[in-house]
Amino acid sequence: MPPASPPLVHTIQEVRRHLEPLRAEGERIGFVPTMGALHQGHLSLVETCARECDATVVSIFVNPTQFGPNEDYDKYPRTLEKDLEALAPYGVDLVFAPAVEEMYPQGFQTQVLVGGVTELWEGRSRPGHFAGVTTVVAKLLNIVQPQVAYFGHKDYQQSVVVRRMVRDLDLPVQIRVCPTVREEDGLALSSRNAYLSPQQRKQALTLSRSLQLAREMIHQGRRRAVDILAEMKKLYDQQPDVRLDYLAVVDPETLLPVEEVAGPVVVLCAAWVGQTRLIDNLRVEP
Ligand code: AMP
Repeated sequence: MPPASPPLVHTIQEVRRHLEPLRAEGERIGFVPTMGALHQGHLSLVETCARECDATVVSIFVNPTQFGPNEDYDKYPRTLEKDLEALAPYGVDLVFAPAVEEMYPQGFQTQVLVGGVTELWEGRSRPGHFAGVTTVVAKLLNIVQPQVAYFGHKDYQQSVVVRRMVRDLDLPVQIRVCPTVREEDGLALSSRNAYLSPQQRKQALTLSRSLQLAREMIHQGRRRAVDILAEMKKLYDQQPDVRLDYLAVVDPETLLPVEEVAGPVVVLCAAWVGQTRLIDNLRVEP
């Protein structure tokens, strides 16, 4: 017999009712927020959570407020049945899949806004994106009240923004950031990879290849960010159907660009492959 799907609830009240007895028993509750269309990247977070905590809660919510007006909210993949099957082997205690009206009922008027680190990179390319992210993550953390919440390195800036919010608002939760899961050829797993044609799938490798190039250069002793970025850019210039959004070598904490690589850095990239916008990043230690 295949393992049973985890319990699924759609309302905040049901989440509270389910978790109350676990909390009363002193169980350590771990939480993995997602937008569904689950792949091994998401499942690695679930697996780590299940290993480190007594109870694992997963949310599946395609959050409209983090998508811009011309972005892919409508076509974003929604595969709840398959997601529940994918979660079955992990012993997940609860899946919360709210409707939009449950999260944003009539009259909703509050936003959680983080400054500084949201103004760069993704924040600049996707105005309003992080306001949507921080508001929904703050709500989900309040709903689930986990001791630990798990995020992926894949969305590195998001993890920095969430950590900043948690510190600044004294939210009683520990944030764990887990490694990016990649295909064998290096492509970072993403729900948006489903949009790519086989041809585009090959071109999408430009992102991970450019990051590997940056890592090699740094390991060979190159230190000037402009040189590293120039070599990376050449890879994009060779791909007519890949349009670069940004490339950066940044400080892992502040996300500000560094001129010289003197300690650990994170190399960030964002590019369009056809109509699909992809991001990736790599932490590199000199
Ligand atoms: P999403 O459903 O895209 O909002 O992602 C939910 C969580 O999964 C976020 O914390 C992401 O950073 C994380 N995630 C997405 N892709 C990957 C990946 N390839 N490896 C590790 N974590 C990932």
